[in-house]
Amino acid sequence: MEMIEFEHPIARDFVTRLRRKDVPPVKFRAYANRLAYLLAVEATRDLRTVPAEVTTPLETTLGELLADPPVIVPILRAGLGLLEAFQDLLPDSPVAFIGMTRNDTTAEPVWHYSSIPNVAGKKVIVLDPMLATGGTASAVISSLFDRKALEVILVSVVAAPEGIARLKTFDNLTVITVCVDRELDSNWYIRPGLGDFGDRLYSDGI
Ligand code: URA
Repeated sequence: MEMIEFEHPIARDFVTRLRRKDVPPVKFRAYANRLAYLLAVEATRDLRTVPAEVTTPLETTLGELLADPPVIVPILRAGLGLLEAFQDLLPDSPVAFIGMTRNDTTAEPVWHYSSIPNVAGKKVIVLDPMLATGGTASAVISSLFDRKALEVILVSVVAAPEGIARLKTFDNLTVITVCVDRELDSNWYIRPGLGDFGDRLYSDGI
């Protein structure tokens, strides 16, 4: 596993705004969406392009177009907060959906729903804003590699050291995050964190 702590002043500014407890969902969604554009640029840095002839109003020249759009996999619900920006920049990418929750007692992932297109031989970008225990991320990544995905890039906003440690053994995995926070608490919330990302997007709790 390769770990990238995304270093950008605008990204750090947005994460600080997302952390504020009094930010209402409408603003939280807007900050998450803008931050996702920056993360999408970082996550797509190594995409392959092919030469493509293009005719401008003045002459014909050689340009480049994306060769194989990666598959995008938002993990429901929180991953939906990053999806729009990734789809905007990768309009030809297939989107897979995976719905998971954590068992309240064990913190282990429970699958509720999945709709996954063919990922064999493809690059896959997983959107999981809060990398906490790494249980959900690990289950999703294993399932993608079982389906013969070539490479997985996990995009998070805040990560706990425990979650990063859990993903260490995967090959062909890159984890991108803006902030590595201090720890998980006894309820598996990331501290200092920003609360429950899904709730902050879609309701008014933490
Ligand atoms: N998921 C969240 O949304 N927040 C946390 O702190 C941990 C997991």
